[in-house]
Amino acid sequence: MITCSQSQLNQIKAAAEAAYPSECCGLLVGSGNSLVVSRVVSSPNLLTDQGLDRFEIDPQIRIDLERKLRGSAEQIIGHYHSHPDHPAMPSATDLAMAFEPDLIWLIVSVRDGQAAEIKTHQLDQTANKFREVNCKIIN
Ligand SMILES: [Zn+2]
Repeated sequence: MITCSQSQLNQIKAAAEAAYPSECCGLLVGSGNSLVVSRVVSSPNLLTDQGLDRFEIDPQIRIDLERKLRGSAEQIIGHYHSHPDHPAMPSATDLAMAFEPDLIWLIVSVRDGQAAEIKTHQLDQTANKFREVNCKIIN
């Protein structure tokens, strides 16, 4: 299970609507070993010129963030991206690009420019597929 706040989800939804019809993306930071999101860090999508169903988080943003978090209680626990006019389920491309089984994949669906459902997933490396993870929303 992952726990995040309504305001964090609102931040992701706003980014998803702003990026529409492209995908938005960013990183999820959490503290300790529990999957509690402490903050959301947005990134430019490096692949907006390669179609509307691609995303790549700027590696420099991740490197800078990891450096900043080193030695702290926080770490990168996952990332998010949007699916414009597609359900919040991982695509075949997402599966092909999933290499880190520890990371949470949060996907927000956007329909006609409006953020819709949000689902969270984690890679099951043995089965080579994503499993949905419950997302608990706190205020
Ligand atoms: Zn995707």
